[in-house]
Amino acid sequence: MWSVIEKDDLMMNGLTSHDFRSAIHTLGISGRVVCLHTSLRSFGRIQAPSPDMAAKMVINAFLDEGCTLLVPTFSRIFEVAPPPSAMFVPHNALDTRNINQLWYDYLVAIRSDYQTPHFTPQTTLLDVRDMGILPTVLLQMDGHIRGNHPLMSFTAIGDHAETLVKSQQPDDGYAPMRELIGLNGVVGLLGVGYERMSLLHYAEKLAGRRLFIRWAMNADGEIIPAEVGGCSNGFEKFAPYLNPLAKVAIVGKSLWRFYEAEDVATRASARIKQTPTITQCDNPACAFCRDVLSQK
Ligand SMILES: [Zn+2]
Repeated sequence: MWSVIEKDDLMMNGLTSHDFRSAIHTLGISGRVVCLHTSLRSFGRIQAPSPDMAAKMVINAFLDEGCTLLVPTFSRIFEVAPPPSAMFVPHNALDTRNINQLWYDYLVAIRSDYQTPHFTPQTTLLDVRDMGILPTVLLQMDGHIRGNHPLMSFTAIGDHAETLVKSQQPDDGYAPMRELIGLNGVVGLLGVGYERMSLLHYAEKLAGRRLFIRWAMNADGEIIPAEVGGCSNGFEKFAPYLNPLAKVAIVGKSLWRFYEAEDVATRASARIKQTPTITQCDNPACAFCRDVLSQK
């Protein structure tokens, strides 16, 4: 389904809240639970005084249309060096004999700068550069709820926020994807590709894969294992199977694609079972892509 949101003066004045709401309405996702992966830059000009205000305008457009929003708010900044027990975790894309301590020391220094030595769901720190501006802004908004995962939390806002994230735990990182499906939710790619679609890592789990383990410190100062996803650089290979499921709109300069979460999970996990190499990236040295196939 194609719908084009166009105005003669679009490039002159930029997109407004009205443009976003009419796109959401036209796509038929008003009132739905929506997981968003967004490149704000892809939209072109937005009628807002700052990028933060532009992000807030997009978020509020979804909320005003009765949607609940779910976004990844990952924070690998809280990762700590693997404990000695890490050597007993097989196929974990980690060479435990060759740990880069300097990197972990650097993360400790950053956390100290922000005076947040460990993660809690109340923390608003995240990996800004990887996550982008929309999750960063959503995490600052009143009423948001962040899942309890030190490295890979999801954050939600809106009526179903609590249901979406409350079951997330360090050893159940993709619980919000399961809840998204349970709530009959949709996934939106707003100017980004399949490599950003967290749901595809959940599809890997559904296909029987164990994901990866990294470590973080809890509030008691203990080092705890946490489930994380692997490499997603090859996920564009799902395009021939998932593109037919998309509802599409052009908003400003951005391609918005929306998918029923359950349909994506079902189709992608079946594909992974049938052709496990579909998730592989192009880098022959990628330890994640090597180990995710060698688990058997
Ligand atoms: Zn890879």
